[in-house]
Order: sequence, then structure tokens, then C-alpha cells
Amino acid sequence: MSDPTKILLSEKDMPRQWYNILADLPNGMRPPLHPGTGKPVTAEDMSAIFPMNLIEQEMSSQRWIDIPEPVLEKLFMYRPSPLVRARNLEKALGTPAKIYYKNEGVSPAGSHKPNTAIPQAYYNKVFGTQRLTTETGAGQWGSALSFACQQFGLECKVYMVRISFDQKPFRKLMMQTWGATCVASPSTETQAGRAALARDPNTPGSLGIAISEAIEDAVRTPHTKYSLGSVLNHVMLHQTVIGLEAQKQMAMVNAYPDIVIGCAGGGSNFCGIALPYVCDKIHGKTVQVIAVEPAACPTMTRAPFVYDFGDTAMTTPLLPMHSLGHSFMPPAVHAGGLRYHGMAPIVSQLLLDKLIEARAYPQLKCYAAAMLWCRTEGFIPAPETSHAIAVAIDEANRAKEEGKEKTILLCWSGHGLMDLKGYDDYLGGRLRDFELPQEEITKALDEIKDYPKP
Ligand SMILES: *Cc1c(COP(=O)(O)O)cnc(C)c1O
Repeated sequence: MSDPTKILLSEKDMPRQWYNILADLPNGMRPPLHPGTGKPVTAEDMSAIFPMNLIEQEMSSQRWIDIPEPVLEKLFMYRPSPLVRARNLEKALGTPAKIYYKNEGVSPAGSHKPNTAIPQAYYNKVFGTQRLTTETGAGQWGSALSFACQQFGLECKVYMVRISFDQKPFRKLMMQTWGATCVASPSTETQAGRAALARDPNTPGSLGIAISEAIEDAVRTPHTKYSLGSVLNHVMLHQTVIGLEAQKQMAMVNAYPDIVIGCAGGGSNFCGIALPYVCDKIHGKTVQVIAVEPAACPTMTRAPFVYDFGDTAMTTPLLPMHSLGHSFMPPAVHAGGLRYHGMAPIVSQLLLDKLIEARAYPQLKCYAAAMLWCRTEGFIPAPETSHAIAVAIDEANRAKEEGKEKTILLCWSGHGLMDLKGYDDYLGGRLRDFELPQEEITKALDEIKDYPKP
């Protein structure tokens, strides 16, 4: 009998621990710095916005961290997620390569994001937090956190960038369905919001403004904390269930990937699939690990490794990362989740250590790849996910040219059923690629040239 197409784990085989790469990094990591003092931030500094149990995780270098039982119980609602062999795509490409994808689109919110939203809501609940605030762009993170808060009986307040709030009502409706309050940002409810509205009453808003509103709300409201869906170490940690499951599933068909691929906005789904394999690589295995970003927001491929703020409003600590500068405004590509000026410090360090490699792809090529995927494998991917698909197709074609039976694994980070507007624009011939002139990068980087150097 031939190998199965879907490789499914039972709940008892679900990983019971998260993997922490900080225990294995060959050169360690630079600490985040307090922007005022230039000294490493302390747990105390972070306690105004995060609960202490998550701060401990953020700073931990313990290799394996137990997944609490109540978190496992919630993850079981959709995990373990399927590993699927993309046989129809392989056939269409005529490639000798085997392509496997880890389907993270099966969660209630439709992406990998609940993998961290659930533990973050849980740890806040245990800590005594009653309410969480966050920001959201296109709404993927806001919907994931709304779902998780609802599961643990926490209130949730989401500041959603005005332009998405108006143009993409469906994610907002998901948040409301799960009991969260979602307001357009800038709002009149915070000083940061009112100041932005005073500057420009018709502003479309920005992620930077939404972050400052969410943080201001968390700092000033009793029993309220703030939550972030990517970039930070504890988020990467929570996502490692993806790669740990994939390792078990690949072993069930006696396979091991030659190439592991993930798209990277802040870096969390990429880390989720990649970190357990990077661990293997550090310990001697041969495996190529590729992170892919949009050419319109080339953080890993064209930005330097610097200390910069995680947000446009300059409220976070200075993070050691590849950054285009916190004031950099990426062009409006449809892959909203990949439009971030920085990159997770963990991903940035792995790039420096040459344990992973990075590529930048233009959006038309990614939509073409997504189209081929939809017409072979059926499931409609998120525009972010299409970047990983495009790299997988390129690698499968290369394997064909070289006559090699490569094994490719990609993280299918989410479905695109809430993003059909992008498909409409692509099918209607209205999409274009953006050239990003060097001057624009230089301009945003100029603003941070006097910051401490990592
Ligand atoms: C948010 C999102 C991303 C990008 O975020 P990362 O933290 O880089 O994973 C990618 N794919 C989907 C489907 C998303 O929702």
C-alpha cells in the first residue's frame, strides 16, 4: 500500500512540552534594552503590560517547558493538525519531490495564531488578569485572541486599524461573535487615539497607533494586560507545537525533510515549524530552512540587524532584530500579516548564525502559486501562506531539473476565506508588484542611526 495522503496523530501523541531554542543557540541572544536607560529590560519593566508568568517564559532558557493541562485541553479542539502530502500539486508539477504541508488553517480562527492566543489567555487567567487588550491589522490576531479569551472567560478589547475595520467587516464580526469588543483605531477612548484624530480626523490608522492605544488601555485599566501575537520569544515558544507534531508525523512515513519552509511576518508560524528542525541542525542533521517574506517589506533580505522599537509609537523595549526602521510604511500588499517593519529577535539571530536562510518574493508570483495550489490541492490559502507555497513550488521545480527526490515541508499557516478580496483583485488583473527604492529604506533607517548597536 502506498503512503497515506493525510498523516494524523492521535491526541495522546500531541507534544506535552514546548521547545525553547534559547537553550541551544550557539551564540546566545542580545537582551532587549530599556529605551530610557539603554540597559537590559528587567522583568519589573515588563510587568506593567504582561503577567509575570509570561515574562518568566519570555526570559527563560529552559529547553523544554510543560504545556499546562488546561491549555492542552483547548488545543485538542483542533490539534494535532493534519500533515498532508500535496500529491495533486506534485503531479501537476511533474516533480520527483515529495511535498508535505502542515495545515494550520483548521483552527477556529483559521490560522496558527490560536496556538499562542490560548496559552496567553490561560497564563493571564491564572495570574488574575480579567481583561486583555491588543491591536490588530487585518484582524487575524484580534480574532484568535477573542476566541481564546472567550474560552477562558476573559474580556477582550481589540483596537483594529480603521481602514481594515471599514473595509474588512468579517474579521470584526468574528471577534464580536466570540464576545470581544472591537473598536476602530484611532478611537476616542485613549489619549493616543484622540491625539491621532486631532492630527488627522480622516486618518486610516496604523498598527503603530493601535498598539499605543492597546498599551495605554492596559496600563491604565485595573486587572488588564496587553497581548502580542508574534515577535516575542514566548510566542515563538508556543508555536513549536507545529514543528514538534510535524516531526512525529514525518517519522510515521519514514520521511525527514530536506527543506523546511515558512512565511515570515513577525516570525511566529515560521518559528513554529522551523525551530525543532533548527535544533536538529544544531545537533548535526542536514536540513535547509527557508523563511520567506514579501519583496515589498524585505526585513530579512534588505534590512540591517539593529536595535529598534517593536512598534511605530516607540512604546516597546528596543529589540535586537532585522528592522527597516519603526517608521517604515510598507506598501499595501494583500499579505497584511507580513507587513511588519521588524522580525522576531529569534529569527534575526538564526539568520546571523546562518542556521536559516531568507528569501523575498513579489506578490504576483505568490498569487500565481496560490492559484495553482487552489486548483490542485483545493484549500484556498491566506495571501501570507502563498509565499511559502511559492518557495515550495520553486524548490520542487529545481528538484525536477536536478532529478533529485527531495522532501519538502511547508507550514500552511492559514486559509484565505476571509481574504477573497485579494483573489478578486488578482483574478481581475488589478494587482501589481511594488518596487521598493533603496531611498525609502535609507530614510526610515536614518531615524534610528543613533540607537545602541547590537
Ligand atoms: C499573522 C499571519 C502570518 C504572519 O505572522 P507570523 O507571526 O510571521 O507567523 C502568516 N500567515 C497567516 C495565515 C497569518 O494569519
